[in-house]
Amino acid sequence: MRFNKKLENIKTYEAGKPIELVVREFGIEPKDIVKLASNENPHGCSPKVQEAVKEIVANMALYPDDSMMKLKDGLSQRFDVAGENIIIGSGSDQVIEFIMHAKADESSKILINSVTFAMYEIYAKHVGACIVRTSSQEHDLEEFYALYKEHKPEIIFLCTPNNPTGDAIDAEALLEFVAKIDEDTLVVVDGAYMEYAAFRDEKKKLTPKELVEKFSNVIYLGTFSKAYGLGGMRTGYGIAERKIIQELYKLRPPFNITTLSLEAASIALEDEDFVQNSIKDCFEQMQRYEDFAREKKIDIIKSYTNFVTLCFDEEKNSKEIADKLLRRGMIVRDLSGYEMNAIRVTVGTSSQNDRFFELADELI
Ligand SMILES: *Cc1c(COP(=O)(O)O)cnc(C)c1O
Repeated sequence: MRFNKKLENIKTYEAGKPIELVVREFGIEPKDIVKLASNENPHGCSPKVQEAVKEIVANMALYPDDSMMKLKDGLSQRFDVAGENIIIGSGSDQVIEFIMHAKADESSKILINSVTFAMYEIYAKHVGACIVRTSSQEHDLEEFYALYKEHKPEIIFLCTPNNPTGDAIDAEALLEFVAKIDEDTLVVVDGAYMEYAAFRDEKKKLTPKELVEKFSNVIYLGTFSKAYGLGGMRTGYGIAERKIIQELYKLRPPFNITTLSLEAASIALEDEDFVQNSIKDCFEQMQRYEDFAREKKIDIIKSYTNFVTLCFDEEKNSKEIADKLLRRGMIVRDLSGYEMNAIRVTVGTSSQNDRFFELADELI
């Protein structure tokens, strides 16, 4: 059978291995499996969310409120931007998909960092756009600018903090960079982990408000999947000038967010204490990974997120290490697919991390 040619050289995105598969493949009891592979919040979400969604579950016959008023109002308040500046997606992933279809086609170039979130490339391929990558592992804005001048890309993706490396761009440098970019190029600032960066270092903190007020060619992306502990709810958002949002809306399927997700995200936004406490805990626990790496002489990239990236020398092989850990029920992310001899480990709860260090001591 013939399929869309654009799909020919797409590698299917490999999500963090689900616990269910590890149970089936290795016969390990679910209680003995620790998943530190997808950067979810190990503390889950605000208990208030759990209470609120019970009511929704009792009444699911009606379609969701497609105006998404409650969640948009919550985001409006949180970020001090107007509702018309916001689009909500089934994960910020879906907003990336909208952006790609709204802006790019076969004649477009998309500029991304050498190592970054894999979905930018996949969505670019959907529309047949050409990917241009930097060479440096961390976002080097001078290199970005040189490539921008050379290629005039339709879209530039800046992932800050970056996944899967955890480093972040200085906010001031990013603002200066965007100021030099022509209005025809859309700059996407993917802030999936911005809550963590803002906590760790004020200098890395970017707000959607400052971006949207200063620039008509920027879209900020946020998600409830990470710090807010709602990965299972698939809810994310984009914030940009109204004209951009209007174009993205043309691509949005009706009812793209379930009633349950809308309610969960709205309530989660109201409990900022929960989020800040779990972020605080994350960095306290991260210290243990930094100590571990120093002790074992393993390179660790300074992280502004809820994960750490451990880079190995040639004597070790990240794929083998990830595999050995997996067989013992510890799911982490091997980064050899990103051409890095490294693993990415989500910072878990204290006892999950205990387990990681116990196994790592033995296996690494
Ligand atoms: C997790 C993640 C997203 C999107 O997550 P959703 O669950 O689709 O909201 C986007 N960008 C980066 C860099 C991420 O790590």
